[in-house]
Amino acid sequence: MIEATSQSVDVSDVHKRYHHNEVLKGVSFHVPANTVTSVLGPSGSGKSTLLRSINRLIPIDSGLIRVGDNIIGYEERGGKYYELSDRDLCRQRQRIGMVFQNFNLFPHKTVLANLVEGPQVVLGRPKRETEEEARELLASVGLAAKADEYPGQLSGGQQQRVAIARALAMKPELILFDEPTSALDPELVGEVLDVMRRLAEDSSTTMIVVTHEIAFARDVSDQVVFMADGVVEASGPAREVLDPERSPRIKSFLMRST
Ligand code: ADP
Ligand code: MG
Repeated sequence: MIEATSQSVDVSDVHKRYHHNEVLKGVSFHVPANTVTSVLGPSGSGKSTLLRSINRLIPIDSGLIRVGDNIIGYEERGGKYYELSDRDLCRQRQRIGMVFQNFNLFPHKTVLANLVEGPQVVLGRPKRETEEEARELLASVGLAAKADEYPGQLSGGQQQRVAIARALAMKPELILFDEPTSALDPELVGEVLDVMRRLAEDSSTTMIVVTHEIAFARDVSDQVVFMADGVVEASGPAREVLDPERSPRIKSFLMRST
């Protein structure tokens, strides 16, 4: 679908607190390049905070996050905080796509304009070329006919497929999905998961997907990370992690989600 070099992600002993509330309590896991990792866990366990830390939308208190060769956040023993320069951070972010629960499309722009905004404004690429690519991407998510419509004219499932296409238009090396199907009516979930499934199979982009869709996690991911109360309770192949016998928390999560 797209040609991009994908990046590995290393998360090592990451801590993050909001005031007195420690939300990430030493989170570590590794995502090899060109693989799909699903992050599961109860609400409030720190999954969104983790994704935002990887994208450096929020600073972490300590620990190390590495995306490819770039260190995103690190605190030395002496308390010195190291991070990328603003310029490098900006460049790094351009390589990371993010898909949110609530789509976050520009409502006053057409679907096509949503897709070409980043490539044209941020990457400075030519109009004709970016529009051609955008139309190809829209076709690949089954929305070729919607290029000139506005997000408000589309269903939630269609908007989310546009949001995925928009993320892909930047040719990201890593895409972070934060519960991309949680805001959708049940009958619209399948069309979005199908697009994500195809992306996982066809592209060479590293994907980290926070989701409650157990079937997606089982079928599509190379690895499942189960978070509970700010720590990684278990990680590894889906069939090992999503075993109700593994822990009481995983058992109760599986029972509530099916
Ligand atoms: P999840 O995505 O797994 O539901 P979150 O990462 O959204 O979990 O939240 C984890 C915890 O951090 C929750 O207790 C939440 O209230 C708290 N939290 C998240 N964002 C903020 C914030 N910006 N300020 C204060 N507390 C926050
Ligand atoms: Mg969340």
